[in-house]
Amino acid sequence: MEESDPTIVVVGASLAGLRAVETLRAEGHRGPVVLVGAEPHLPYDRPPLSKQFLAGTWGLERVRLRDPQKIEALGLDIRLGRSAVALDVDAHILGLDDGARVRFDGLVVATGAHPRPLPGTEAIAGVHTLRTLEDSLALGAALVPGARLVVVGAGFIGSEVAATGLGLGCRVTLLEGLPVPLARVLGDEMGAACAALHVARGVELRTGVGVAGVRTTGADGVARATGVVLVDGTVVDADVVVVGIGVVPTTQWLAGSGLEVGDGVVADATLHAADDVVVAGDLARWFDEGLGAHVRIEHWTNASEQGVVAARNLLAGRRAGAAYVPVPYFWSDQYDVKIQVIGHPRPADDVVVVDGSLPEGRFVALYGRDGRLSAALGFGRPRQLMGYRPLLEARASFDEALAHRPA
Ligand SMILES: Cc1cc2nc3c(=O)[nH]c(=O)nc-3n(C[C@H](O)[C@H](O)[C@H](O)COP(=O)(O)OP(=O)(O)OC[C@H]3O[C@@H](n4cnc5c(N)ncnc54)[C@H](O)[C@@H]3O)c2cc1C
Repeated sequence: MEESDPTIVVVGASLAGLRAVETLRAEGHRGPVVLVGAEPHLPYDRPPLSKQFLAGTWGLERVRLRDPQKIEALGLDIRLGRSAVALDVDAHILGLDDGARVRFDGLVVATGAHPRPLPGTEAIAGVHTLRTLEDSLALGAALVPGARLVVVGAGFIGSEVAATGLGLGCRVTLLEGLPVPLARVLGDEMGAACAALHVARGVELRTGVGVAGVRTTGADGVARATGVVLVDGTVVDADVVVVGIGVVPTTQWLAGSGLEVGDGVVADATLHAADDVVVAGDLARWFDEGLGAHVRIEHWTNASEQGVVAARNLLAGRRAGAAYVPVPYFWSDQYDVKIQVIGHPRPADDVVVVDGSLPEGRFVALYGRDGRLSAALGFGRPRQLMGYRPLLEARASFDEALAHRPA
């Protein structure tokens, strides 16, 4: 960026976008900052949407990411309920859905991700996906005591919805295509520990099942879900169906922009996707120098940290920017258990429980790969787990980690 008071545009008014605009101001950027967000809301937090907000124990004010006055104080040109529909990187022009053409000197792309639908079920009443405040409100209204809730997909979001639904008095069935839930993230043994959480509390977990579609009734002219049809023809009766089969990066508006798109927006180690364009959050596929590969992460802490680094690196310029090399972290709350992961677990890693035990359902497990500590997983052990963070940051050997006893 060569202007003395450059205009910076941030697309996506959620976690990564918010952290980016805050950082621009904190780093002393005084020029115009335009924040464009497709949703009608100021930035809010998504994790409670499958937990406390869905359960009805938190109200709207607790899911706000910032007080409106704090956002006001940033002096932004905020365009809410407005979508970016076109980008010309060479000309430095962003097109909005109201026909506006916004010229920028620097751009932060933070349009996140949206749920992958179960094909053919999008218009069926009673079939839900969960990403937005409105999704959570609609699902919460349907989760009445005694309702038969069928969750398709036992990933983190599906598992959290199952847990919250059970707490609300629903009869819950959790369907998973893999033989063991989360095995592709955590491996078989720890995936089985996740499965046990549900089974122990009375959720009917069915693994290794394929879903063919949703059975409906059309009594009032509106197709309404009455069950989930499995590939073998069996039907699982349902009043409410939640589809939790992953997310897709929101990049369709970048077609023809000049940015490289492929399962996210491809960026270099400094989060630059082009000279004056940086990316942050769920849609960023950046080159992680620590792993020597392009990666994309769909978790809260990554979106928050990348928002900060992307903004700093945009101000610094592509050549002067710092590489983003995180030790990733995420959590999931299911029932009364906080599951936390630090690092990069892979299914084929060696896994050793070093604190607590699997039968207790409270433990810390370490993952090792190529002689190094690759990740640490905690079930209901936040303090003990965090004791391994410095070792992950220091790229400690697996033996050193196994011998370590956190204070
Ligand atoms: C129900 C739920 C529970 C979660 N729980 C956890 C958890 O427990 N732990 C954890 O680590 N992570 C959790 N996550 C993930 C975490 O919330 C995400 O990683 C984080 O929200 C990503 O932030 P983001 O800013 O990159 O994208 P998003 O939050 O997806 O925001 C992108 C924003 O961009 C807007 N947008 C899209 N297209 C356009 C456009 N063309 N123009 C303008 N605006 C646009 C969208 O409307 C959206 O507001 C959860 C997510 C969900 C949905």
